Amino acid sequence: MRVGGVFLTILSHKAESAGRELIAVNPANTSRRCARCGHCAKENRVTQASFVCTACGHATHADVNAAINILRAGLALRDAAEAA
Ligand SMILES: [Zn+2]
Repeated sequence: MRVGGVFLTILSHKAESAGRELIAVNPANTSRRCARCGHCAKENRVTQASFVCTACGHATHADVNAAINILRAGLALRDAAEAA
């Protein structure tokens, strides 16, 4: 089993025992896509900490922007799984 697989297995058990749900998300572009308008460009990432969208001007902490994208991706996966 891959290291990531072991980690996800432990994490899913922890989540389950805490009454939480774990959804693995592909992190590609989550740090460079604008959570407001969807514009995806590496230029949106001004510094390690700050995110300013070159298309719509949305400005926030880079981690907050990425977290919103990751949450949306996870919820979309859950919706797709429930619809199947
Ligand atoms: Zn934007």
